[in-house]
Amino acid sequence: MPVIQHNGKEYHIIVHRKKVKNINFRISKNCELSVSAPLNCPDEYLQNAIKSREQWFREHIDKVQRARREREKLQGDSKDVFWFLGKSYRLDIVDDARNEVRIEADRIIILQHQKDNKYLTDLILKKWLLPEEHRILLEAFERIYPLCNDFVPQKPLVVVKSLKTKWGICYIRRNQINLSHHLIHYPIESIEHVILHELVHFKHANHGAEFYTLLGRLMPDWKERKAKLKNPEVAFCYLDMRGFTYRLF
Ligand SMILES: [Zn+2]
Repeated sequence: MPVIQHNGKEYHIIVHRKKVKNINFRISKNCELSVSAPLNCPDEYLQNAIKSREQWFREHIDKVQRARREREKLQGDSKDVFWFLGKSYRLDIVDDARNEVRIEADRIIILQHQKDNKYLTDLILKKWLLPEEHRILLEAFERIYPLCNDFVPQKPLVVVKSLKTKWGICYIRRNQINLSHHLIHYPIESIEHVILHELVHFKHANHGAEFYTLLGRLMPDWKERKAKLKNPEVAFCYLDMRGFTYRLF
């Protein structure tokens, strides 16, 4: 197994022989190095190819480790922080039999009877958050929908659920829009932008020039609203909402 020395550490490169055309070099998020090579590639040729990539591997090891440190730092900072509508709140858990949530200034206070029971914290938070989210997304949709009344004559069904890679999806034939649970962590103006974006798809299915012309006409500041969805700090406070799906219309 080929080895690369870097910063006093040894990195082993795992070689996979596969039905591929070219030699491909990979580095995973956990700094695992691998190479896939065609079945008929001669050993010596492969060794030389790996040798010529040593510097590339070193640079990428540094890059991956830098990214990991950044991630850990953000995670550490975001402990006990909950982002709600674009604002960060400190989560305070208080021993109290009422099992409910209160918002006071910059704190979200969770009153729970077993202070250290994380499962219970999660449950109380969700029990509070789901109807709140329901109300907020419904109101946002009601504000935005009239802008699109002429090209979406029938009010679509709105479903809120866990979406892994998207903020929203529109199903034109089903007359339905799915929105991500994670939106609730972001500012209301960004949520409105996602709703409008999905509604504009009823007129223009693809992201062509016409799509953005219409979006810009209906919401001239959509770019600023969209940019706020990129806050990396927020992504670490996502509540695991799997298993929760509900409909607004
Ligand atoms: Zn789109």
